[in-house]
Amino acid sequence: LSRLSAVHVVRNRAGAPFAGTRGLVVLDGSVGEGGGQTVRTALTLSAVTGKPFRIEQIRANRVVGGLGEQHLTCVRAAEQICSANTRGAQVGSKTLEFHPRDPITGQYEFSVSTAGSAVLVCQTVLPALMCLDGPSLLTFRGGTHNPMAPTFDFLQNSYLPMLRLLGPECQALLQRPGFFPAGGGRFHVRLKPTPKEKLKFLELVDRGRVLRKEVVCLFAGHGFRYAQDQVRELTESMDWREVGVYLDEWESDSPGMVLNASIVSENVTECFTSLAKPRKVHMSSQLVPLCKRIREYLSSDALVSEYLADQMLLPMALGRGGEFTCTEITPHLRTQMYVIEKFLTVEFATEKLEDKTAWSVL
Ligand code: AMP
Repeated sequence: LSRLSAVHVVRNRAGAPFAGTRGLVVLDGSVGEGGGQTVRTALTLSAVTGKPFRIEQIRANRVVGGLGEQHLTCVRAAEQICSANTRGAQVGSKTLEFHPRDPITGQYEFSVSTAGSAVLVCQTVLPALMCLDGPSLLTFRGGTHNPMAPTFDFLQNSYLPMLRLLGPECQALLQRPGFFPAGGGRFHVRLKPTPKEKLKFLELVDRGRVLRKEVVCLFAGHGFRYAQDQVRELTESMDWREVGVYLDEWESDSPGMVLNASIVSENVTECFTSLAKPRKVHMSSQLVPLCKRIREYLSSDALVSEYLADQMLLPMALGRGGEFTCTEITPHLRTQMYVIEKFLTVEFATEKLEDKTAWSVL
């Protein structure tokens, strides 16, 4: 097993989160990871704080920079929930200005017209709606299982449980998976918010005992036997004998197959996903990096792996702060800190723990 030499702890003590000027926040989209996350996080924070922002050099570190269809849907979604005025909201735009009004809860439907990730749209509006007065019923259309984005399963099993720890009640229901190239997926989220002042402090440094492991193969347009093969290959590579296995067949506009391995521990569920390449059935080459990530996580004792770490930072900062351990401090995580510190009066501190026994002092 490859063993990480250290886990990291991320601390955030929130001061007066929504204090400060209502002046324009100026962001540089080339900082850190330089991807779409900077835009999405800025949209959420602008909706929550009422601070307008301008972002330049959008997605400067991506091959095709500027706003893509998925990012534009995030802009339109945020615009809708807080009746914002925007400048530069077009596909390809490298500069965006966003002037929000007060966000309003209710029933909304957001649609990515391509196979772009609808889950990322969901993660843009959910934290903004989670601390308002009334409930929301949200429908998202587009891609539900995309590479380089959280899958619906990740949202349902890892992200939403984390959000619930802060106080809000939220459940997601998949109606139809959406894969590249057609997209056309659909899911709903029901949200009962918690007032800002009642959001909880998140203190999660210890994963607790691993309770069970589950492997789900969600597939559409592929034979049952192929799904069975992928699951067998994964469980054999991991040498998992006692593991819950589910084969979950759907109809979808494009065929697709996704393997999702969940590690359910006492305090957290971590999901590791891998998607079959379009028009390919065998996933053997993707299983190697998938197994490597799972092994690294299991041998690290950190609460969360790289993805959940950058995704939980924003809800945590909107609440009363907190601390958690993660396997690594990624550019995505650092970029989140950069954007959040521009909007909220919060400070982040990261510490490298050399010895997991140090956890007891946190
Ligand atoms: P960006 O690259 O800036 O568009 O941000 C991508 C977002 O997707 C980040 O929040 C990542 O944590 C998340 N992400 C990427 N790959 C995965 C994955 N395999 N599982 C869960 N989340 C992911």
